Amino acid sequence: MKEIFKSLNRISTERIVNFVELRISSIKHLKLDNKNGCLICGEDLVYNNLQKRIECFYCKNTFETNVLCKNHHYVCDECHSMPAYSAIETFCSKSLLKNPLEIAILLMHHPSIKMHGPEHHFLVAASLLTAYYNTTNEPTNKSVMLSEAQKRAKNILGGFCGYYGNCGAAVGTGIFMSLITHSTPLAKEEWKLCNLMTSNSLHSIAHAGGPRCCKRNTYLAIIEASRFVNENLQIPLKTGKQLQCPFSQLNRECKKEECKFYKGCNIDTSFAQNES
Ligand SMILES: [Zn+2]
Ligand SMILES: [Zn+2]
Repeated sequence: MKEIFKSLNRISTERIVNFVELRISSIKHLKLDNKNGCLICGEDLVYNNLQKRIECFYCKNTFETNVLCKNHHYVCDECHSMPAYSAIETFCSKSLLKNPLEIAILLMHHPSIKMHGPEHHFLVAASLLTAYYNTTNEPTNKSVMLSEAQKRAKNILGGFCGYYGNCGAAVGTGIFMSLITHSTPLAKEEWKLCNLMTSNSLHSIAHAGGPRCCKRNTYLAIIEASRFVNENLQIPLKTGKQLQCPFSQLNRECKKEECKFYKGCNIDTSFAQNES
């Protein structure tokens, strides 16, 4: 195995459904060579004699299988080979998770989600929509919103950050805010909220400096959106209180110590401040 994979961090995915906060203490050093190990957590696969009925991590359909990882994750063949946008929509439409950062990081482990790429624009909006509607107990709203978010996110070209001065992760938070407030170009307060949302995310992303990193910008955008929703809509999106990037060693342009997520940092949202 290549050296680069040997000391990669990953989030602990034990009891993932109940997982609420991304704590530095829960992040373990482990390989992320998903070509051989579990797609979700990187652990070794276990080949059993007898088949078990188990739910696919992404689509939540049940299957008979001999192969599970040590943490009992299973990904069906269809989900394993799904393109990025479909994988995001499939997982988010079925997931009951309420932490948008957790949703985003789980999705980033799917093999179709590259280190950098325009699929992150949809990933940001989808993670936030999922967490929002699961938090407000309106999960049935998700499928139509995810479908609309995907259409809008596909209009944001790759490289928009450096060529147009408008990072697609920030626009993803604007799409999210537009959808949950039902904004249109003729709306008044909703128009203000969705443009302010993008502005806040873009400000945070810009101050982190280049070169572009779709992981860093996704984290920053989701943190800004969680704070914004808490402050303006009084909906408490739980992001956890700390985050360390599990992907830094896969990024050739990683800023390392210059990025606050490299060694881990506290997450500063007003909701987190209120909780402590
Ligand atoms: Zn696993
Ligand atoms: Zn599946």
